Amino acid sequence: MDRVFNFAAGPSMLPLEVLKKAQSELTNYNGTGMSVMEMSHRSAAFEEIIKKAEELVRELMGVPENYSVMFLQGGASTQFAMVPLNLYKNKKADYILTGAWADKAIKEAQIYGEVRVLASSKDKNFSYIPKVNTFNQDSDYVHITMNNTIYGTRYTWIPQTGNIPLVADMSSNILSEKIDVSKFGLIYAGAQKNLAPSGVTLVVARKDLIANCLDITPTMLQYKIHDENKSLYNTPPCFPIYILKLVLEWLKNEGGLKAIEERNIEKASILYNFLDNSKLFKGTVVKEDRSLMNIPFVLPDDELNKKFIDTAKKQGFVELKGHRSVGGMRASIYNAMPVQGVKELVEIMKKFEKENS
Ligand SMILES: *Cc1c(COP(=O)(O)O)cnc(C)c1O
Repeated sequence: MDRVFNFAAGPSMLPLEVLKKAQSELTNYNGTGMSVMEMSHRSAAFEEIIKKAEELVRELMGVPENYSVMFLQGGASTQFAMVPLNLYKNKKADYILTGAWADKAIKEAQIYGEVRVLASSKDKNFSYIPKVNTFNQDSDYVHITMNNTIYGTRYTWIPQTGNIPLVADMSSNILSEKIDVSKFGLIYAGAQKNLAPSGVTLVVARKDLIANCLDITPTMLQYKIHDENKSLYNTPPCFPIYILKLVLEWLKNEGGLKAIEERNIEKASILYNFLDNSKLFKGTVVKEDRSLMNIPFVLPDDELNKKFIDTAKKQGFVELKGHRSVGGMRASIYNAMPVQGVKELVEIMKKFEKENS
């Protein structure tokens, strides 16, 4: 066995072309005689890398001019604090509770101000996205988790928040489908699901929203500082930013967001169609809110779940065990997962169904 089909929720698969390119440049990047890992973040070679990464984010996502693109550290979890610290003015915000990550974001925002949880899907183990159309007019922002990695739900629509900035955690759906950035005040995503290895966090923020922050905000947690310094206020995660650049080049080469979205819909449909028609395997999410990236499913009992996970693993289909809060299985099929990987997964599911019913 060489490479496996890796269905991990994150860190997750990277395109093989990207890994090979990084390997070929690992000890001598572009004639510098050194690795990107050994390079000053102030060097001309690295400045070119980070500049290109920003350009590609802007181009692929269609980021408007009045937005800043930042490469930060501390994962999406640090954004749970940075968002309120930088966006609070009245110190009030609206949050929608759609899962464990949203819950963590809420708890962090509560440290610095008043959080109003407008809706929750906790009543049905987060298997749907609650529809919310009215927001508190004195809120500094509205926060959503656009794709819920653990529960496999996603917003297929964008809440209309009017003048209140919409903030979205897109850690597990960033650059997987076309979105209109101008509908959001701020977007953040940890890289390790769809962008790069862990260590870098992408933030896209409307500049007027990040001009001021709460007085208590540590320097390193101020968007303004990172924006003014083009993500080079301190030493950034150079190697993950370099891999991010390679992934974005790969994405562009594959045809950009439109092409990758079509492919992601195709992949998800292959698996959902099977689940909808299977007598043994069942999806856990209501149809209209199903994720394109994370697909949880269950068998009738835990013994069968375990048997399937073991059977799949032996054939090179790994990391299919579901999160403990849903149980069963979860197939994370981010951008780098080829269509063939999903097709072959469905084949072994069909075979398993035949042998076990
Ligand atoms: C993984 C994940 C996080 C946490 O990311 P870290 O980078 O580990 O802090 C937050 N939100 C969502 C939606 C995620 O999928």
